[in-house]
Amino acid sequence: MKALITGGSRGIGKATAKLFVDHGYEVLLPSRQELDLLEPDSVDRFVNRLSVEGIDTIVNNAGINEINLLEDVPDSQLEQMLMTDLVSPIRLLRGLIPQLRKSPAGRIVNIGSIWAVVSKEGRSIYSAAKNGLHGITNALAIELSDAGILVNTVCPGFTLTELTQKNYTPAQIEQLNCRIPLGRMAEPWEIAKVIYFLGSAENTYLTGQKIVIDGGYTIQ
Ligand code: NAP
Repeated sequence: MKALITGGSRGIGKATAKLFVDHGYEVLLPSRQELDLLEPDSVDRFVNRLSVEGIDTIVNNAGINEINLLEDVPDSQLEQMLMTDLVSPIRLLRGLIPQLRKSPAGRIVNIGSIWAVVSKEGRSIYSAAKNGLHGITNALAIELSDAGILVNTVCPGFTLTELTQKNYTPAQIEQLNCRIPLGRMAEPWEIAKVIYFLGSAENTYLTGQKIVIDGGYTIQ
């Protein structure tokens, strides 16, 4: 079985790749040189390169989150976020669906966020992109059901990765910990376990869902 995981150089993607490898999957982890989601041509080249490979699982994990009030968002930031978090993942799926259809257990996991469940100031574009990606999850869960392909969105809460350390100071992370019912942020491997289950043949009946894994943050 073969899994493609975007954004596998660090954070949640790296932890997810390790789990798939531990379970015997061959894992494709394209570097930025091989697949740059900011560049439509790069996505096209990557899709063409993979056109002869069998693929069983696609995890759309790579993402960016630039925090800014909507009234201050320049076009360049709007375009970069929508391209990375929504448009390129859609184009990647569109190009690779023919291979997934040939798999005996095709699975797609799109990585969303708690900001696709609730939102917060400065997250408008990120929330729009992640909600958009979940729209793709829902539609594909139906479109690909005839091929037995299961499609889900995993929505992590605060997770200790470079993305989080870029957006929050250590003091802010301490404050946030107090607002999470479990009292701490997630470790990447804790999110990876859910991604692995949904993205592997262990999942046989769960499709079209938004699975929130946030230590209870969004139920308050
Ligand atoms: P991270 O540590 O910042 O890693 C991001 C990954 O995405 C890196 O591998 C990076 O590759 C890749 N990437 C970024 N821009 C790219 C591009 N243009 N083309 C190809 N790859 C690109 O992120 P993370 O915290 O693990 O987050 C992973 C996913 O979870 C993201 O979709 C994020 O929105 C979501 N998420 C994270 C959190 C959190 O608290 N961390 C919470 C909710 C949701 P390079 O090494 O080339 O830069």
